[in-house]
Amino acid sequence: MPVTIVQLQVLIQVEYDSLVVRLGLSPLPLDVYEVDDSGNGGVTAHGTDKRNATPGYTPTRIVLPEQPGDLDAWSAVQPTFPPSTFDRHTDEWPMWRSELWHEMVHQYQHQVLKNWNQADGRQGHAEGWPDAVGDVAASFGITQAELLRVL
Ligand SMILES: [Zn+2]
Repeated sequence: MPVTIVQLQVLIQVEYDSLVVRLGLSPLPLDVYEVDDSGNGGVTAHGTDKRNATPGYTPTRIVLPEQPGDLDAWSAVQPTFPPSTFDRHTDEWPMWRSELWHEMVHQYQHQVLKNWNQADGRQGHAEGWPDAVGDVAASFGITQAELLRVL
């Protein structure tokens, strides 16, 4: 069963709310939308150009563009939380989940560790990133390397 963008927005919000509680984050708006390459799609309610296809963390929102073709491949069933496996080659880890978790780790890096710098070379993946991955992994009882495989 494919998932619609509206259904996916709900799945992602439910997952995000669980992550926020578990990690003690201050919730941010989620900007989840279908990519529109036409140039006629305009911007999202949060002001993101719908041509943008790159997920991202900002201090004011988490940007999660979705490709229409991916929606056809994904399920509308809410995934188990916490995940029953951290193997990305399973139904437990559609790409939307990996992308949400990746940006949420940046949020943890910023809000909790106060060690996030978008200009640090690779969009915040230098200083602070390994510690953030390690802390989030520990909260799920897995290693940093295990979590990195799904991010
Ligand atoms: Zn990143």
